[in-house]
Amino acid sequence: MSFTVAIIGRPNVGKSTLFNRLVGRREAIVHDFPGVTRDRKEGRAQLAGLEFRVIDTAGLEEADPESLAGRMSAMTLGALDQADVCLLLIDARVGLTPADEHFANVLRKQSTPVLVVANKCEGKAGEPGLLEAYSLGLGEPIGVSAEHGTGMGDLFEALQPFA
Ligand code: GDP
Ligand code: MG
Repeated sequence: MSFTVAIIGRPNVGKSTLFNRLVGRREAIVHDFPGVTRDRKEGRAQLAGLEFRVIDTAGLEEADPESLAGRMSAMTLGALDQADVCLLLIDARVGLTPADEHFANVLRKQSTPVLVVANKCEGKAGEPGLLEAYSLGLGEPIGVSAEHGTGMGDLFEALQPFA
């Protein structure tokens, strides 16, 4: 596997759905870390001809909202350590939230390249969120639907330079 991709974002944006789509039936390895990082799932992804390692930064879902920001930073930075590129997922149906801005700020301050991915873009409900994602200032967002599989060609094109 030539490179590693970390999927990052607030709870419920579809990180695990995208992870599962990329990894498919190939086996995922779940690492349990004590303390801040509850668990991190990694697997071998295939997207058209591309093969890469993908990390799903899971485990934020049950976090105490009060400590969420700190946990997010710690997990994000931990995954970024290992990644050649990261996908910042947002929910295009909800639009940007303060938590998305928080992630964007964390990612802006480090050196791993970031691709903004606006998920849940099937149908028209995602269009405003996709446009809003430009304002994160991290480049052109890639509109996908992890659930329905749309936009995977655009994701492939964006990831190809890292292979
Ligand atoms: P995570 O917390 O970021 O890992 O998010 P999950 O992958 O668990 O997904 C959260 C919710 O969003 C679930 O109910 C998914 O079914 C839903 N979801 C994920 N991807 C999509 C998508 O592309 N479109 C829509 N409409 N829902 C999605
Ligand atoms: Mg998840």
